Amino acid sequence: MARYKGPVCRLCRREGTKLYLKSDRCYSQKCALERRAYAPGQHGQGRKKFSEYGIQLRAKQSVRRIYGVLERPFRNYFKEADRLKGITGENLLVLLERRLDNVVYRLGLASTRAEARQLVRHGHFQLNGHKMNIPSYLVMVGDEITVRSKSKDSVKFKDLNENTTIPEWLTSNIKELSGRVEAMPNRESITIPVDEQLIVELYSR
Ligand code: SF4
Repeated sequence: MARYKGPVCRLCRREGTKLYLKSDRCYSQKCALERRAYAPGQHGQGRKKFSEYGIQLRAKQSVRRIYGVLERPFRNYFKEADRLKGITGENLLVLLERRLDNVVYRLGLASTRAEARQLVRHGHFQLNGHKMNIPSYLVMVGDEITVRSKSKDSVKFKDLNENTTIPEWLTSNIKELSGRVEAMPNRESITIPVDEQLIVELYSR
C-alpha cells in the first residue's frame, strides 16, 4: 500500500501551516515551522503570491497530507463525496474522518495518524471482535475498535496520553484500549483548519 515516506516537516513548510504530523514535537520549539517558517527548497524564501488555483491546490494538499492519503485515492474520496447527498466538501471531510487509521488516532491509541496507520496495518486491532488491518476501512455507527489481546502488552500501547480530547462522535476506554463509534462525524467535530470549499472548486475546474 503506497504512502508518503519522505520528511514530514517539509510538508508543513510547503503548506505554510502546521499539519501536526508528528506528536509532541509539533507543540514544541523544535517544530521545523517555528524555526524555518518558509517553504523548503532553493527558492523557498522567495516572495510568494498564490494564484486562485494555487490557493485551492494548497488547501487540497493540506487535507491530503493531514490524512496521509495519496492523490488517486483522495480523488476517489472526492468522487464519492460528490455522489452522496449534502455538501460535497463536508462529505469529503466526513469520509476521511471515518477512516479506521484516523479513528484509532482520534481515540488516543496512537500519537499520529501515520503511527495509527502502521499499527492497523500490522494487525494490532480488532473491529467488532474480528481482526482488521485495513487503514482505509470506513467505520460505521456501532463499530467497536479494540486492541487485540495479544497486542495489549506491546510497548506501543504503554504510556498513552489519557488526556486526549475525544470527539463527541466517539467514546474511548483508554484503560481497556478500546473505543466505539457512537455517531457519524459532522463538520463541527472536524477541527482541521482548511476551507474544504476550495477543494471542491479545484476539482470542479
Ligand atoms: Fe509540522 Fe509537526 Fe514538523 Fe512542526 S513538528 S513542521 S507541525 S510535522
